[in-house]
Amino acid sequence: MLSPLFHRPRFLIAAAVAAVILAVAVGVYVGRRQTTTQTIAFSEFLQYAKTGQIARVAFADRTIDLALRDGRTLKTVPPPEFLTANAPFYTELADRGVRIEVQPAPEPGALSLSALALAGGFLALLGFTVYRTTAGRIHTPGRAKIAERGDHVVTFQDVAGVDEAKDEVKEIVDFLKEPERYSAIGGRIPKGVLLIGPPGTGKTLLARSIAGEAGVPFLFASGSDFVEMYAGVGAARVRRLFKDARRHKSCIVFIDELDAVGRSRGGSSLSHEEREQTLNQLLVEMDGFEATLGIVVIAATNRPDILDPALLRPGRFDRQVMVGNPDLRGREAILRVHARKVALESEANLRSIARGTPGFSGADLANLVNEAALLAARAGRSEITHRDMESSRDKVLMGVERRSLTLSELDRVNCAYHEAGHAVVAALLPSADPLHKVTIVPRGRAMGVTMQLPEADRHTYTKGYLDTQIAVLMGGRVAEELFMHHMTSGASNDIERATDIAQHMVCEWGMSSLGMRAFRKAGNSFGDDKPHAISEATARRVDEEIEKILNGGYDRARDLLDRNREAVKALAEALLEQEALEADEIKTLLAQANAQA
Ligand code: ADP
Repeated sequence: MLSPLFHRPRFLIAAAVAAVILAVAVGVYVGRRQTTTQTIAFSEFLQYAKTGQIARVAFADRTIDLALRDGRTLKTVPPPEFLTANAPFYTELADRGVRIEVQPAPEPGALSLSALALAGGFLALLGFTVYRTTAGRIHTPGRAKIAERGDHVVTFQDVAGVDEAKDEVKEIVDFLKEPERYSAIGGRIPKGVLLIGPPGTGKTLLARSIAGEAGVPFLFASGSDFVEMYAGVGAARVRRLFKDARRHKSCIVFIDELDAVGRSRGGSSLSHEEREQTLNQLLVEMDGFEATLGIVVIAATNRPDILDPALLRPGRFDRQVMVGNPDLRGREAILRVHARKVALESEANLRSIARGTPGFSGADLANLVNEAALLAARAGRSEITHRDMESSRDKVLMGVERRSLTLSELDRVNCAYHEAGHAVVAALLPSADPLHKVTIVPRGRAMGVTMQLPEADRHTYTKGYLDTQIAVLMGGRVAEELFMHHMTSGASNDIERATDIAQHMVCEWGMSSLGMRAFRKAGNSFGDDKPHAISEATARRVDEEIEKILNGGYDRARDLLDRNREAVKALAEALLEQEALEADEIKTLLAQANAQA
């Protein structure tokens, strides 16, 4: 794992100072208590006065200190009124040759030495605590974390599904291994590599694997570490990072979330100023080291569009590598990488799991394998089964089952017909994605789920496919109307998704009679109302087209379900009995219902 390098001498000094002050304060206090003279009864004092044994008296605020002629010093506490109303007594003392001193009363609020020392100690302690909580955030620039020797070394074997990106960075490994070979012929290796891609696609992993393959240290910092409200702190941290890097002959400096610090410059607020300083420092540092030095800076971002153009100039992050979500083969390979680390039964079909996880990132897949391992462990199995992997996938895709939620019988029946409606439309329309599972166990926020899985990853959608999607979404409400003779709010998410698809079809994808034009309603979203502002009349036509598509989907679903009432009934009843149905079971049920009809 990564370990921070904390060297905080100031931290120790502050602690030592606080301890010394406290010790002095306690010492003074205890010392004073110990030198306190013996206190005698007032009657004894009068006796000493009468017998002429007193050499000196000192009247303090409430006490009398006395020195006897034999050298002893004593103290007594007189009655309160004695000190004010006894003028003859003082004259008598003076006559006996006693030296009389009067000590002024301490001024109100004046602190004794020990109290001062105690207060000092307390303040030091307070300062020390404040220092501890703010240290590193204000005063000391943060340090990069570097991988330690004992850490698991990540290599290219641990990174799967991003072959193009791997090919692109292989050259850097060669350079880091033998920088001389490149510099001998005057070759200039890129100083900066920008990995671009959505979160969880393995950018950090790839950067670590480069360091692992080349056998060089890996210094890790996150862009957000440099973002501070105190001007200059971020820049100091960048300086520190590169100072650390220069200590090594060659190394990888990895900056995650580069966009946090590398946004386009401009603006006038204080935070802008701080960020600009930090960014400038980063540019200066990158220009400052020789390309032959053996330091390669790798940064990751998922927003290259907002980066300052200065960062992307030659000599800085001039090499850009895309790290996207994996395709089917990539997902299978990633599952295999993670399955190596756990005990997975040999019959598990990773290809089928990969097929059922379109759009999953590498991190999602790693999480899926881990969830499956937890499921198997909870069930007391020593191996992860294929079913564990499937349950884990369903959990990630559809949310956690909420078996504790008790539904009324009416809700259950309604839900069963609703899901059966979706399922039957999906099963009967050839261009719909194949059904994977239908369940009426509440999951996440849904009461029931009808899950379809595409045969292969989709990168574009045909109009036919989108129309079918809308019809499938309408199937739920249509079934409620046909079989339950009512409408419920359970269709709200279906309606929202269908409207969204129809809107895209008309406004962005040119799939309506309005033709190939982009429409965006004025004020649709912040800041982008200008380029495509449309007139009132056109807006009305857009709305009409959206409505037409939605109504078309509804009519199609209604027609289908009305003609296949037996199939819906059979599926709903099976759902009420079993709660969840897999693809094969649905197929058999529908075939039986068809045969009966
Ligand atoms: P990013 O930096 O792109 O946000 P990470 O590199 O931090 O993503 O990925 C998080 C975790 O997900 C990794 O530690 C790894 O376990 C897993 N992972 C992500 N992508 C891959 C991949 N391509 N191959 C193998 N594992 C991956």
